[in-house]
This record gives sequence, structure tokens and C-alpha cells, in this order.
Amino acid sequence: MQIVSWGNFMDVLIRGAGVAGLTLAHELSERGLSVTISEKRDGLSQSASWLAGGMLAPWCERENAEETVLIHGRKSLDWWSRVLPGMVRRNGTLVVAPPRDTAELSRFATRTNGFDWIASDKIAVLEPDLEGRFAKALFFQKEAHLDPRLALSALKGKLIEQGVRFEFGSDGAKQWGGLEIDCTGMSSRDPDLRGVRGEMMILETSELSLSRPVRMLHPRIPVYVVPRDENLFMVGATMIESHDGGPISARSAMELLNAAYSLHPAFAEAKIVESGTGVRPAYPDNLPRVTINGKNVSLNGMYRHGFLLSPHFAEVAADKIIEASGKVT
Ligand SMILES: Cc1cc2nc3c(=O)[nH]c(=O)nc-3n(C[C@H](O)[C@H](O)[C@H](O)COP(=O)(O)OP(=O)(O)OC[C@H]3O[C@@H](n4cnc5c(N)ncnc54)[C@H](O)[C@@H]3O)c2cc1C
Repeated sequence: MQIVSWGNFMDVLIRGAGVAGLTLAHELSERGLSVTISEKRDGLSQSASWLAGGMLAPWCERENAEETVLIHGRKSLDWWSRVLPGMVRRNGTLVVAPPRDTAELSRFATRTNGFDWIASDKIAVLEPDLEGRFAKALFFQKEAHLDPRLALSALKGKLIEQGVRFEFGSDGAKQWGGLEIDCTGMSSRDPDLRGVRGEMMILETSELSLSRPVRMLHPRIPVYVVPRDENLFMVGATMIESHDGGPISARSAMELLNAAYSLHPAFAEAKIVESGTGVRPAYPDNLPRVTINGKNVSLNGMYRHGFLLSPHFAEVAADKIIEASGKVT
């Protein structure tokens, strides 16, 4: 351990009020540290976290991710339920494919576990509005989802109750006497980070009701639809190797809308109430990192798993910071 001064390490400044910064604030505050969060935007909106789907889907994510994502990700369901009671909906995930792409379903099944193959009669029981639309599906019963915007706002409220201070519209450039932690996502200056652009839309229709996220497999652009309150459906998301956070492209909008329409034709008449682009911060191995290197302390690289993995990595970061504090002057 390099010996540096963290000043008064009990007095922590976290830069960035995305899911990484807020979960870490919670863990540090629970361990008795005094925490201030500085966020350069005026509120919580428009971060990658704000634009997320909110799926807590470690078994599905295993399709493309290391086992560590499953091992640590499954704990997030309990973390969110404990910290924000009532926020998590444990209804599972349904994975379907259009008739011409059912081979994708079998391929998905070979790369994952924790599911049951179900036929159209069971699909109709789970999601009555999908009756007759798909001959078979994979049902990941243990998965869950939350509304990221409600979760972030509720977590902010809880943190304020715990005594955490928020400074919005602040880039944290001012001198700070204590420990500073970087949770700025893609704005971090870490040269190892790359951006993975994720475009999404929010559709509104009262013609359809879903109880759980539905993933629609496709060889080129797999898409998911996550139901929210008030007849809203988050449709996402592209995965493009780019740090460009600019508006959704026409191609991506068409792909997302086509997929939603092939899930259910009622989406044809839905209102497009929002489109957006978030840039996922990712390290080369697509796994988060807790970095404690002298004065450089950061929690970053949540990639496509911010809600799934922040709880675990925030706990790890908080424990490491407490441990390291005994070794710094
Ligand atoms: C479309 C989409 C769908 C997704 N769906 C899911 C999902 O279903 N489940 C899941 O687990 N994950 C999902 N993700 C991934 C998840 O959103 C990200 O992993 C996560 O948001 C990254 O969080 P973060 O806190 O590191 O970064 P961010 O959310 O980007 O937060 C960083 C914050 O730092 C602030 N900031 C920047 N610079 C400064 C500065 N100098 N001073 C102060 N503040 C600063 C920014 O304004 C921002 O608010 C999705 C992502 C996208 C884009």
C-alpha cells in the first residue's frame, strides 16, 4: 500500500450520483463515514443509470458474461429489497424469439441456466396479453426488475435521511479536505475505460399489460421490453462500441420499434414518450473495478450491470476503503 494522505478519511466526497456513487454512499454511510455527493448535473436525470432498463437478471446476463456476474449479481435482488423495501418486482424474466429465430432460443439456453422451458399455455398464464404469440419460451423465474428512476430517487431520499449531503450542479473541482472517490462513469479520466453506447425508448400504451421484462432474441439486435407503471414500457437497448452519447439513430429507433412490434402489435399505436442514449462505462474485461491507488480511489466500469453489480462492488469498495484507511497517514 502506497502511503499517501487522505486528509480526514472519515469525511468523504463522492463524485457522481449515478448508481455506483449512490450505492457506495449508502455503504460508506452505513459504516459510519460522513459522505457528501457532488453531481455535475442539476439532478439525477440523464446519467447512464437514469436511462437503464432496471433488470436484475444475472441468469440471463450469463449468456454473455463471466460467472462472477451471476455470483455477485444475484445478491443485488436482496440488497435492493433490503435498502428500498417494495422497490423490487420478483416476477422473473421471459425470453422469446420470433418463429424464424427459434434457434436463438436454443442457443441462449445452452449458454445460461436457472430457467424452465415453457410452452404457449404457460406463457399465456404468465403474460395473458402474449397468448398465442409464441410457441415456447425460457422462463427465468428467480430474476427481478425495478424502475431505475424510482430506485435512484428513493435511494437519494434515504441517503439524505442518513445524513448524506448532495451538491448538484457541482463538478467537485473545489478543494476537499478528506477522501475523494471517483464514480463519474464515462466522465472519468481512467484511460482503461471505454464507452458502450446504449440507445433506448419509452413507449406508452394502455392496450397491453406485462408483468415482467420480456427479452426478444434476434441474431443481430436482441431487444427487451421492461414494463413500468402508468402504461409505460422501456424498450432497449443497443450495444455499440462508442462513447458518443448523442441522440438515438434512425436505424436504432427502427430496430427497437420493430422488435417491440414483433413482440406485440399493440406497440404500433403506442406513443413514443422518450428516446435516449446512455454510455455504459466498461473496462476491457467488462467487469467493474474498485481502484485504490494512492489518492486515486474509484468505483467504475459497471458496463451493462450497474443495478445488478453496484450493490456488491459498493460493499467491496467500502470495506477496502475502511481497511486501507488504517494504512494511510
Ligand atoms: C440503455 C441502457 C440500459 C441499461 N440497462 C441496465 C439494466 O437493465 N440493468 C443493469 O444492471 N444495468 C443496466 N444498464 C447499465 C447501467 O445503466 C450502467 O452500468 C450504470 O448506469 C453505470 O453507473 P455509473 O454510476 O457508473 O455511471 P452514471 O450513471 O453515468 O453516473 C455517473 C454520474 O457522474 C456524474 N459526473 C460526471 N462527471 C462528474 C464530475 N466531474 N463531478 C461530479 N459528477 C460527475 C454524471 O453526471 C453522472 O450522473 C443499462 C445502461 C444503458 C445505457
